Amino acid sequence: MVYTSYKKIDEVGRVVISKDIRKRLDLGVNDSIKIDVEDNKIVITKAEPGCVFCGSSDDLKEYMGKSICKNCIKMLSK
Ligand SMILES: [Zn+2]
Repeated sequence: MVYTSYKKIDEVGRVVISKDIRKRLDLGVNDSIKIDVEDNKIVITKAEPGCVFCGSSDDLKEYMGKSICKNCIKMLSK
């Protein structure tokens, strides 16, 4: 199903995801989202809570479908 919604980006780059879309995708306050850029599209997906090792949600990178934070990547590469 395709649902189209037009929004404006504010001066600091924020976009509001309307309540009906949040409800439909079960997105709540403080849920994490994943933003993928595919050519000229931005794809927003509900994300796993955080780093698979420490639970942090800062500086996450995706590796084989799992989220890993920058600190844990650094630790693993030692
Ligand atoms: Zn981590």
